[in-house]
Amino acid sequence: MASSVFDDAIARLKRIGTLTQCSTQVINALSHANAMLHVNVEVRMDDGHIHYFPGYRCQHNNVLGPTKGGIRFHPQVNADEVQALALWMTLKCAVVGIPFGGAKGGVCVDPKTLSPFELERLSRSYVRAMADFIGPERDIPAPDVYTNALIMGWMMDEYEKITRVKNPAVITGKPIALGGSLGRDDATGRGAYLCIKELEKRDKLIPEETRVAIQGFGSGGYHVARLLANDGYKVVAVSDSKGAIYLHQGLNIDSVYRQKQQHKELQAVYCEGSVCEAQVHQHLSNAELLTCDVDILIPAALDGVITAANAAAIQARYIVEIANGPVTSDADAILKDKGVIVVPDILANAGGVTVSYFEWVQNRSGLRWQREKVSHELAQIMQRAFKRANDLVEQNGMDFRDAVYAVALKHLSEGIEAHGTPD
Ligand code: GLU
Repeated sequence: MASSVFDDAIARLKRIGTLTQCSTQVINALSHANAMLHVNVEVRMDDGHIHYFPGYRCQHNNVLGPTKGGIRFHPQVNADEVQALALWMTLKCAVVGIPFGGAKGGVCVDPKTLSPFELERLSRSYVRAMADFIGPERDIPAPDVYTNALIMGWMMDEYEKITRVKNPAVITGKPIALGGSLGRDDATGRGAYLCIKELEKRDKLIPEETRVAIQGFGSGGYHVARLLANDGYKVVAVSDSKGAIYLHQGLNIDSVYRQKQQHKELQAVYCEGSVCEAQVHQHLSNAELLTCDVDILIPAALDGVITAANAAAIQARYIVEIANGPVTSDADAILKDKGVIVVPDILANAGGVTVSYFEWVQNRSGLRWQREKVSHELAQIMQRAFKRANDLVEQNGMDFRDAVYAVALKHLSEGIEAHGTPD
């Protein structure tokens, strides 16, 4: 793997660009972000001292629309990673055909060490630093790793205080009371679930005989686990940042979730009402979860977890990427040789930004959609994007990741070429 996440993302883009005969003008345009803002987010801590947290926002490419992408609060955030994440947003929006370009933001902070008031001050301060850079027709943030609806609500409120105009479409993933969309909460997990349902139809998978491991039990990982378990899939392993639990007969996801909410740790339990019974289970490390004996592996945490060093040990037949960038480019060929089918992040986790688009549409039209309408429209978009890529797999014998990139590159090529040459 290249030493930088962005360079690695570009290496993959160039490989697939050559394979799909994408013009060098297009690959060159996508290899350069439009803009990158680096700020120091000033926060008064509860003890009175001022702390400065490095903050970033990268607007990668706005040919297909205003730029769009989440803001993450994580100690590993840096300019290089934010840039790669912004590139993936550009590709993601193009895969599902929504009228946005790509962006990403982040603050290098461990939010678990902040008090609720410090977290609110950090969120508001980030928006004050970025206010001239974002806007409903310019760049629209959303939640990402360790940010949520509450934080989006504070950010929108701060933006409206600065601009003195009601402008809910500046940010998505807000609380429902502030103009958020029904169905945004589980959209990322649901999008991945819809991809797995397409694989189920195509490859005649039998849910009760299909074993699933999920790395990460945040909003994406939890909801895909819940939806798959409801359909009879055996979710045998899930993990959080501390490690994984494994239960051969399949975990009771709702019980594990409730237990995690209450006790802040993963445990295999079965609950009837308020009475919970512990189930004897194994503990695995996050690394062990990736190579355990399952049919579907869902990395739903951070980037760069499957590399040339562990790709050969993967036992799963499918990898469905809910995290952004969990597989490095040097692992692609190893997985391909093993016959592992990878549903890449830019399709598998596109449900989140797709429902963000619905939220933006609702905010701008003043309408409120029912949850059923959100789910229906999301399914249409995900199924259409899956089919486009799968047609390429079937007609040209392409690898699934390459086919999904080909769909994005075709859409972006049309936009970049129609845009003309800059002066
Ligand atoms: N952070 C999510 C992603 O990586 C959602 C972005 C959005 O809704 O704009 O796709």
